[in-house]
Amino acid sequence: MRAIEALSLALGTCTAQSSFIETAPWGFKSENSFLNCAAAFETTLTPHQLLDTTEKIERELGRTAKSTGGIYNDRIIDIDILLYGSETVDTERLTIPHPLMHLRDFVLEPLAEIAPNAQHPTTGKSIRELLEATKDTGGL
Ligand code: AMP
Repeated sequence: MRAIEALSLALGTCTAQSSFIETAPWGFKSENSFLNCAAAFETTLTPHQLLDTTEKIERELGRTAKSTGGIYNDRIIDIDILLYGSETVDTERLTIPHPLMHLRDFVLEPLAEIAPNAQHPTTGKSIRELLEATKDTGGL
């Protein structure tokens, strides 16, 4: 909620926002679960400016390191850039589309709420098709 507000202030209009979907932690055990949400923004920022902004917001919201000794742990906020229109980016700091998004149902489910027909630029599949495929395979 606070991240969406901060992103709207920093980026520009939020054009769509999914519901918050609760999922069990992936890759580690915890009593806490995750709340996943996908949002779309119109922005004039470049992909790298966007990453600078999302990292700043994560820091401001009290983000701690993702993993300790290579093991994932609880975190207050994690903002991923899933898509940037139909563009692809592949630099040391930034990969768009996000490398695992097409395999993760906890990403695809909220994204399918707001952009079911968006085309994933590297697989060429729609978000709805990718979500159906993760349901068949159990996701990642
Ligand atoms: P995470 O802990 O999952 O938020 O990952 C953060 C790191 O992933 C940062 O150091 C980013 O430079 C890098 N990264 C690469 N591609 C992306 C992306 N599409 N969205 C967010 N972070 C990314």
